[in-house]
Amino acid sequence: MVIGAGASALMFGAYSKERLLFADANLDIGAKVKISGGKKCNLTNKYVNARNYLGNEAFIKKNIDSFNSDDTLGFFAKYGVFPTQKDNGQYFCNSSKEVLSAFSKANCSHKFLLGSRVYDVEFAKEGFVTYFENESIISKKLVVASGGISYPKLNASDIGYKIAKKFSHKIKTPKPALVGLTLQKEQFWMRELSGISLHVRVKYEDFAYEGDMLFSHFGISGPVILNASLRWEKGKIEIDFLPFLDFTMSSFIWNEKRQLTSVIDAPKRFVKAFLNSFKIADKPMKSYSNYEREKIILLKKYAMPIAGTFGLNRAEITKGGVETEEINPKTFESKIQNGLYFIGEVLDVSGELGGYNLQWAFSCGANAAKNFSF
Ligand SMILES: Cc1cc2nc3c(=O)[nH]c(=O)nc-3n(C[C@H](O)[C@H](O)[C@H](O)COP(=O)(O)OP(=O)(O)OC[C@H]3O[C@@H](n4cnc5c(N)ncnc54)[C@H](O)[C@@H]3O)c2cc1C
Repeated sequence: MVIGAGASALMFGAYSKERLLFADANLDIGAKVKISGGKKCNLTNKYVNARNYLGNEAFIKKNIDSFNSDDTLGFFAKYGVFPTQKDNGQYFCNSSKEVLSAFSKANCSHKFLLGSRVYDVEFAKEGFVTYFENESIISKKLVVASGGISYPKLNASDIGYKIAKKFSHKIKTPKPALVGLTLQKEQFWMRELSGISLHVRVKYEDFAYEGDMLFSHFGISGPVILNASLRWEKGKIEIDFLPFLDFTMSSFIWNEKRQLTSVIDAPKRFVKAFLNSFKIADKPMKSYSNYEREKIILLKKYAMPIAGTFGLNRAEITKGGVETEEINPKTFESKIQNGLYFIGEVLDVSGELGGYNLQWAFSCGANAAKNFSF
């Protein structure tokens, strides 16, 4: 029995030599795959590397090295799906429909119980007993591919964590990731910038990401912020709003007769709101006092306190999950309970934006299946 018919489960089925039974609460297979990458599925990334993930590096490396982005592309090519490489090594399809069609063909020998929510699992003499609303099914082996808890409207649930706990596995607290960040009161001035996008560099502890940031009424989002949310735990992030400009207290730029908004290559509305937040006027660069310059220079190093995230409803993934130290890195079988497997996002491994999470799910599915037999 496999719980879930999402990305990891479908790749597991595609590579399995055994005939399997899949149960999923959704009425169709691959509900999240369908909406991934704006329905164009960012399937994988040319530069996939363990450093793109949060989690145990050795465990991650073993999995993605054994089934890498070329293997993913090779698998889909067999079904006539040829993703195109875009920025930063990301591979996108024309439509997620072609990915789901490939998975349907690759899994045609298996049986699917769709619209079937799993409520509980127990271990009995005969094997694993999986409980649905009105029935239960006994199986010798159980593969948990139930994903994370973000995007509950697509029937995400905590069943994977519940099962793991039942068998004494440790769980790293699940949290929303690849999600927008909310503002503290002092930054509410940013709310009026809703809709503006900027190219910025964001730092949190040892991690730095460069890319587009979007202001919204709820806070900040956009690719660079989503990546920062993967690493952010608490406190401030640091934003360089002018990554292409060398701008210090001693720069020649301060001799300019033009106004700041004309000199700086950033949306005028943003620069004005930024100045306003310090009660500083937009005026000729030359005329700023040292105190004002010190504030303006913060455009390069803005320490921004974060209140929280947009939450699980809007998060692309869940970080945290079943800890990997008790999972065999080759077979994905539990080291605590024979016949029990965990694959995909349910594990404590979370990738950056850019095709890394589907690649993780695919690598787990393919590698686990290659070593799986009844
Ligand atoms: C909006 C959005 C866009 C994304 N875009 C991308 C992208 O372009 N590239 C990328 O790499 N990643 C993307 N991701 C992340 C990616 O989709 C996931 O990381 C990936 O699908 C995880 O695969 P999985 O098999 O572990 O879980 P899932 O694909 O989520 O599958 C888990 C399945 O288990 C089922 N399930 C859960 N609980 C139960 C239960 N109690 N009973 C029965 N069934 C249950 C669910 O219905 C679900 O179908 C995106 C995510 C979202 C939300």
